Amino acid sequence: MTRSNRIHKPFKARFALLSICAAAVLFMVHCSGADAPVFVQEPLPYPQDALAPFISADTMRLHHEAHYGGYVKKANQLAKGGRFGGNGPEDLIRAMAGDPGRKALFNNAAQAWNHGFFFKCLKPEGGGAPQGILAERINASFGSFARFKNAFLSAADAHFGSGWVWLVQDGENLAVMTTADADTPIAHGLVPLLAVDIWEHAYYLDYQNRRGDYVRSVLDYLVNWDFVAGKLKNTQESGAGN
Ligand code: MN
Repeated sequence: MTRSNRIHKPFKARFALLSICAAAVLFMVHCSGADAPVFVQEPLPYPQDALAPFISADTMRLHHEAHYGGYVKKANQLAKGGRFGGNGPEDLIRAMAGDPGRKALFNNAAQAWNHGFFFKCLKPEGGGAPQGILAERINASFGSFARFKNAFLSAADAHFGSGWVWLVQDGENLAVMTTADADTPIAHGLVPLLAVDIWEHAYYLDYQNRRGDYVRSVLDYLVNWDFVAGKLKNTQESGAGN
């Protein structure tokens, strides 16, 4: 054995040990969340048949399992391996918005987010008019709840093709808007308060082409106004708006 071999042997052993440690650390990081799914399919906050007769159990099953589940799965597949700064779904959506090269990811990510939000906007024996601070904010922005309702139904009626109707907060004001396809207010610096899905899959089994009747049923019988009110931001703190 030469002198140089005696010097190198411990060095090689240490190097091998370091390599094993580095691989173990990388493996642990990999398993502990670096590649964890960005999007999670949230469970329905009520049974599938709880919104009948206004939205049937068949519609809810297809909508929640097939459509929403499909968007979540696809969004996670497309986001996998990407570098999004370890941020959550909303940051990813904002980062992808307006990037033509990431359109598929944006569409599936925004649809995953929109659906999770939408299902929470509904509840059995909901609807009617809100109370408290939300009612005050609606009156201040629209004049009355009846005028808000009319603006919401008119926006849904005027929207061409697939999309969403929203009540949003823009700074101090509340506004009604629609978005096309997967687009979402969070990509536009607005605070979503209420969403109604107006893609055909949301209502066609129950209402066929009567989209207006579906939106009116949601407002009259299904909106969870407590959830909507809980999304109101204090404009002094949030800096919400454009
Ligand atoms: Mn949908």
